[in-house]
Amino acid sequence: MSDNPTAYKHWRLETDAGHVLWIYCDKYQSSVNTLDKEVMDEFSAILDAVSKTQEYRGIVFASGKKTGFIAGADIKQFPLYKDAASIEYTLQLGQKICAKLESLRCPTVAMIKGFCLGGGLELALACRYRIAEDSPKTRLGLPEVKLGIQPGWGGSVRLPRLIGSVQGLSLILSGHTVNAKTAAKLGLVDFAVPERHLRKAAIHCVSQNPVSHHPTTWQRFSNHQLLRPLLAKVIRHKLTAKVNPVHYPAPFQILNQWETYGVGTAEAFAQETKSFSKLFFSDTSHNLVRVFLLQERLKGLAKDETFAFQQQVHVVGAGTMGGDIAAWCALQGFKVTLQDQEPALLSRAFKRAYSLCRDKLKEPHLIQKAMDCLIPDVAGHGIATANIIIEAVVEDVSIKQKIFKDIEEKARSLAILATNTSSIPLDEINTVLREPERLVGLHFFNPVPMMPLVEVVQGGKTEKAIVERAMSFVRQIDKLPLPVKSSPGFLVNRILFPYMMEAMNLLEENVSPVVIDKAMTHFGMPIGPIALADMVGLDVCLLVANHFKKNSDFTISPRLQRAVTENKLGRKTGEGFYHYDKQGKILQTKNDADTKALEEIANRLVLRLLNEAFLCLREGVVADADLLDAGMIFGAGFAPFRGGPVNYAKTQGIQTLFQQFVQQEKNPRYCHRSHCTVVI
Ligand code: NAD
Repeated sequence: MSDNPTAYKHWRLETDAGHVLWIYCDKYQSSVNTLDKEVMDEFSAILDAVSKTQEYRGIVFASGKKTGFIAGADIKQFPLYKDAASIEYTLQLGQKICAKLESLRCPTVAMIKGFCLGGGLELALACRYRIAEDSPKTRLGLPEVKLGIQPGWGGSVRLPRLIGSVQGLSLILSGHTVNAKTAAKLGLVDFAVPERHLRKAAIHCVSQNPVSHHPTTWQRFSNHQLLRPLLAKVIRHKLTAKVNPVHYPAPFQILNQWETYGVGTAEAFAQETKSFSKLFFSDTSHNLVRVFLLQERLKGLAKDETFAFQQQVHVVGAGTMGGDIAAWCALQGFKVTLQDQEPALLSRAFKRAYSLCRDKLKEPHLIQKAMDCLIPDVAGHGIATANIIIEAVVEDVSIKQKIFKDIEEKARSLAILATNTSSIPLDEINTVLREPERLVGLHFFNPVPMMPLVEVVQGGKTEKAIVERAMSFVRQIDKLPLPVKSSPGFLVNRILFPYMMEAMNLLEENVSPVVIDKAMTHFGMPIGPIALADMVGLDVCLLVANHFKKNSDFTISPRLQRAVTENKLGRKTGEGFYHYDKQGKILQTKNDADTKALEEIANRLVLRLLNEAFLCLREGVVADADLLDAGMIFGAGFAPFRGGPVNYAKTQGIQTLFQQFVQQEKNPRYCHRSHCTVVI
């Protein structure tokens, strides 16, 4: 057995004085450990060699990277698998390696720091012990369903076997990850310890061989064949309420597999392979992998990593957006000064920030640390020291101009000036600036903590380097930057707007809001357009409609105008297009339309959205179709399993869509917009 560090390309082996073999995963020329065939082949060879010798007291598997244990399979290689035979071969290879690992006679420990996901966790599950660093960065899980597939190296069998079916399936079916403490409570890891004790704990396991986690009687019984049908029924019922099996078949298939084959036989592993392979070649998985790769592309757009924003962010305006932007930045460890007109307005934002930090961080000392980063600053002292200043005051050009004039006077010469405007062209705001090239748009989406996208808006005068730095800032606060041109509504709102207006036209035709929204959630949108309008606020919708009307000719829905006149502004006033209860829940639920009618409505609305998407492409609002799809998925939640609007249009056939659109244009029942441009 060789300890020679050069013997393997992706693994490093060291034997310590106590005869413990330390095996570090350190993927060649990669900042993160992902598992591909070469990495796994080497690992298999290492295990073969280890199994032939008695010289080790135990083995500890760890990561040789600065961050993270193993992130899972290399998703970039997924498109290389063209047929079931090739993917099944790889899965069986992975399963064999895990089985080899599980059957080693000496104690084996997975020492986990940072993320341990997918195939990484499946390897760890095959070890006798798992020890995880108790830190917010440690996350363990099997997120394969998020790619439309399932665990394929035995994880869908070993996890419910280890921690029982209720908790195990809950993790697998949701794709959620857990931190080290929760993992220890579940029995997924044996110990959660601070970093300084990690090695000691690993050596303790190897040398003392303490009792590892074993499933409790209930956890074992929860996988029993008598109980499985009953539990599966309950879980399926809950799952169906949240997930459409036609759109997302993976969780249902995993559940069926568990119900039929359980966790105790070789057949369970064999079925896992078959089930994985079927899901792998589905359209859903194909599109979800596409979404993952689009996300990677957005991350990669932030190239300028030299600009240090850590020092300070200043936010002007502590309302819905400014308050949440400031809180989010503080949560990411930035020092943030938050300015508004009076302390009472700041205290509202601080309360919300506290709730956010509490929900995300859980531990009191971490919450305190994040809240300490957030500093109230009515006088705006922070402007003079900040590296980036984000304006998020009311949507009024003269107020914004006044604020930026003042900011430019006080700010450091290198500081970036950013506006969160959702509709005002940058070249209107920047006319008051001495250096208009410093102004960039950072268009966050509401609610800030939940929406991953930030449109980085380049005005006619914005300097390219400023845009690049702004994109780098967006990545540093763990959001996804999308570069767009400064045109009305930028990309996401511009595309959503005609779709929402068309939904209001349907209201004018006496189609019920419930039916319209059902049609779109049935299509795969996270929320229907009418509920969305009520959530945004009908006053805001009208404001935006009037703004868009300056550039194009269409009729604003009279219902929208009437609702605003009557102060029925949506969820915030308890009534808009819907009525709401005190908790803000919609009261109407009756859907009297059949599936065919729902599909017709969805088709009509989606055509509007697609047409505007192609217009945006033609006008160069965004650089290419993939970026447009990414923007609509991460900024508007466009049905991810459809891979984005342009991808959807391509799969439907552009010619077919064109014909449908022309048909709608000719039919007055279908078109209220007099100047519709057919560009599909
Ligand atoms: P808001 O009305 O909730 O908050 C605006 C805040 O700005 C208020 O607290 C107000 O007191 C403060 N303010 C006004 N003048 C000020 C001044 N001179 N100095 C300091 N503070 C001042 O508005 P919002 O919804 O947070 O929107 C803010 C900006 O973000 C707007 O440009 C809006 O278009 C944009 N935006 C809003 C949304 C959304 O969904 N609400 C989404 C994206 C972008």
